[in-house]
Amino acid sequence: MTNNIAPMLDVLKRVLDDTPATTTPTDKPLIHQIQCANCQGLIPVSEATIVTTSQTTAIDSVCVKCAPLFKGLAKIVCLTCRQVVACVQPHKDASGFEFKPGAYYHVAVCPTCTPTVASSALLEKKQYDQMIGRK
Ligand SMILES: [Zn+2]
Ligand SMILES: [Zn+2]
Repeated sequence: MTNNIAPMLDVLKRVLDDTPATTTPTDKPLIHQIQCANCQGLIPVSEATIVTTSQTTAIDSVCVKCAPLFKGLAKIVCLTCRQVVACVQPHKDASGFEFKPGAYYHVAVCPTCTPTVASSALLEKKQYDQMIGRK
């Protein structure tokens, strides 16, 4: 009776040996991390800054160390990534559209989530252009 178990263990062992190491649970990251947009350092999502803008809730993808460097800048949030994807110095562009310090602006998609998009228009800028176009 006990002799019947041996071949089964053999098979089991072979199956385990064939299993690629990458599928073992210990190889999976325990926490999802994002990369700091400035220093490329990894930030655990639990420590990332979540910002609430007029349109969405997004992750501000700069680490605590780099955050002061971006204070006072206008930030651009991708609505698809739900992340801050760019920062711009506050200024008024040629059409009079203003990037206000610390304000959030939005794009529907960005080159990160949609590689076919080279650049995408700011939703606020589109609205602004429509508004001044009507005048
Ligand atoms: Zn950083
Ligand atoms: Zn995006």
